[in-house]
Amino acid sequence: MDTICLDFINSEFRDFRGRWVRDDLQQPGWLEQFLVKWGLQVDGPPDAATQTTLVALRTLLRSMIEALVEGQIADHDQAALNAVLLKMPLNRRLMKDTEGYRLEMVPLKKDWDWVQAEVAASFAHLLADQDPRRLKMCANTNCRWVFYDESKSRTRLYCTPDKCANLLKARRFRARHKNNF
Ligand SMILES: [Zn+2]
Repeated sequence: MDTICLDFINSEFRDFRGRWVRDDLQQPGWLEQFLVKWGLQVDGPPDAATQTTLVALRTLLRSMIEALVEGQIADHDQAALNAVLLKMPLNRRLMKDTEGYRLEMVPLKKDWDWVQAEVAASFAHLLADQDPRRLKMCANTNCRWVFYDESKSRTRLYCTPDKCANLLKARRFRARHKNNF
């Protein structure tokens, strides 16, 4: 599943062997592409303070997913998410095109507060309208890639079968056969 919040959370990219971490949020090019992809264009790049709040939002979302895996989200994290949603009030507007009428949500302003509110809304939408139990982190602790498990049995453990699953399989194999080598 491709959603704003998963894209945003995975901007913290860890090498699957734990050799390095790349923070795409710090790369202006990545951020620009992200905004275009999701129709969230704003006037300029984030200033230092905004950059800090973006990283904090990502940390919040990650910790919420970790909490979800273990049970449920803490009240203070839920309150923190609601605070981000409140950053941008929306107006409703009736629109008409060739398909007919539709009700649109229009932000009061298109700035970085709006971008953060949209990321938070995308996450809230996943919890409210999808299955929160399918929101997972790759079982490879070096990786921690976040994904929505769309498998029928809801048993997917890894971000990709080729990298993380194979790596851990090989590690388990070596551990099991340590005495034989
Ligand atoms: Zn992984």
